[in-house]
Amino acid sequence: MNNSLLASFIVCCVLISCSFCYGDEVIILKTGRKITGKIISRTETSIQVEIKVGKSKAEMTIPVESIERIEEGRGLEEEFQKKLSAIKPTDLDGYQALIVWCEKEGMKSQAQRVRVRLKKAEIQFLKDKYPDSWCRPCKATGKLACSSCEGKGEKIEPCPRCTGRGDVECRSCARKEKGALDCRRCGGAGVYERFDASKGRKVKTRCTTCSGKGKIECPTCNGKQKSKCEDCKGKGGKASKCEACKGKKYDLCKPCESSGVKGNPEKKAPQKEGPVQEDSEEETKTPKKKPVVKDNPFGR
Ligand SMILES: [Zn+2]
Ligand SMILES: [Zn+2]
Ligand SMILES: [Zn+2]
Ligand SMILES: [Zn+2]
Ligand SMILES: [Zn+2]
Repeated sequence: MNNSLLASFIVCCVLISCSFCYGDEVIILKTGRKITGKIISRTETSIQVEIKVGKSKAEMTIPVESIERIEEGRGLEEEFQKKLSAIKPTDLDGYQALIVWCEKEGMKSQAQRVRVRLKKAEIQFLKDKYPDSWCRPCKATGKLACSSCEGKGEKIEPCPRCTGRGDVECRSCARKEKGALDCRRCGGAGVYERFDASKGRKVKTRCTTCSGKGKIECPTCNGKQKSKCEDCKGKGGKASKCEACKGKKYDLCKPCESSGVKGNPEKKAPQKEGPVQEDSEEETKTPKKKPVVKDNPFGR
C-alpha cells in the first residue's frame, strides 16, 4: 500500500469510528504509542485530538502519516457505569475499589461521584450499626453546618445604601401612585386630539399608548417602584469569607467528636479538615481552560 492510499484509508477509519461512537478513541501511532482522546477535527493530513492532561484538556495535532490505526474507545464510561451499578449500597470496599480504578483510568469526576456515594454508604453503615446512638444533630455525618454563616461559608456585610435589601426606591416613579407615570403621549388625559382630514376638524382619539388610562407603567422599574441598588448590584451587600468556619461551611460536630456516633465508640480521629465535598453527584460544569499543546506532549 503506498502512502497516500494508506492515508485515505486512515481518514476513512477516522470517519467511520467517529460516526459510531461519541466516547474517546485510542490512536495507536506507528511508534507503538497509544493516545486516548476525542477526535475533534480532521484533515487529509492530520487529525486534531482533545486529550486530558492532568486536570485540564489539551488539543493535539497528529499527522496522519504517523498513525498506525485508530480504535474505538474502550468504553470506559460504560465500564464505569457497569461497575458502579454492580456495587451494593452497603459495599464500602466495593466503592473504595472503584475509586482506585477511576483514578487509575484518570476519571476524576467519576471518582468524585463514587466518593459521594461512599460517603452516603458510610453514613448508612453507621446508622445501621448504631441504630440508637448515631448522632442526630449531625445526621451521622460528623459535620454540622457552621452556625455563624448557616452553612453558607460566607457572610454578607449589608450594603449601607439599601440596608441589605438589594433594591432602592425607583427614582422615576417612587413618589407616584402604584409605580405609574403619566402617559407622555396624551399628557395623562387618556385621549388626545388629532386632525381628521375627512371631517375637516380635530377629533378626540383614545390614546393607544396607555389604553386610555392616562398612566403607563414605569419603564424603569416595570411598576415595581423599586430598582436594583447600584452600590451592591442588587446583592444586598458584600460577601466575605466566614471567619468562624474559614469558608468551609461546616463545623466538626462536637457531641460525636465528628465520628457520627454518640460517644465515638470506634475512637475515630477527627475528620481531616479538607475541602468540603458537596452533597451532589453533579459534575462540575465550569468550563475548563484549554491549553493548546501543539507538539506531542508524550514525545516520540
Ligand atoms: Zn455528630
Ligand atoms: Zn461559617
Ligand atoms: Zn445596596
Ligand atoms: Zn419606577
Ligand atoms: Zn396616553
